[in-house]
Amino acid sequence: MTQLPARPWNGLTVLDLCCGAGGLSMGYYLAGFNVVGVDLHPMPNYPFEFHQADALEYLAAITESGEIEKYALSHASWPCQGKARVTDWRGSRADHPDLITPGKELQQASGRPWVIENVPEAAWDGTLRPDYILCGSQFGLRVRRHRVFETSWGGGGELLPPCWHPTGRNKLMAFEHKDERAYADAMGCTWMNKTEARQAVPPAYTEWIGRQFLALHSAAPAA
Ligand SMILES: [Zn+2]
Repeated sequence: MTQLPARPWNGLTVLDLCCGAGGLSMGYYLAGFNVVGVDLHPMPNYPFEFHQADALEYLAAITESGEIEKYALSHASWPCQGKARVTDWRGSRADHPDLITPGKELQQASGRPWVIENVPEAAWDGTLRPDYILCGSQFGLRVRRHRVFETSWGGGGELLPPCWHPTGRNKLMAFEHKDERAYADAMGCTWMNKTEARQAVPPAYTEWIGRQFLALHSAAPAA
């Protein structure tokens, strides 16, 4: 278990579906949320409360039971490796059907605000509306890892600096197997092992999105 960084608690909880080793969970945590994660695979290094389960089934069950009401927001990184240019490292593409469409339907039906994260390719064919397109360079991270986010509130919020990919000495790091540890650390995923970090997303992205959610929903922090 990693030593969690200190952060102010805002009294709200995020449900992170298909949470992996917790890169985006950590972002919400840093924005002040409690986080509960769900993933089909065991995640021994996940730093928050964790449930090993099929995320679609889990969300359907807690929507049915009413437990969903304890969450301010659901976040999901539904698998869609079929869309990614990078071949999945954990098996064949056929093992990973596109779950974005059924997942989004369930999140909409849950009645709670939601966020879906995916690779940029998921926006090219209209599967996701790119409410936010984020890059490490916008947060001062030296990594190239673009991700799109569709949100129930349609985006908006504070302006970020544009994505910028300098050349030469200040070049951003692209993922490569020979330097996976350095890449994981540059993303801010220091608690993960190298394998976990391959599919991780920098916490900075959801730390920022969590803050936009709070600002746009006037969700008053607990006293
Ligand atoms: Zn970029």
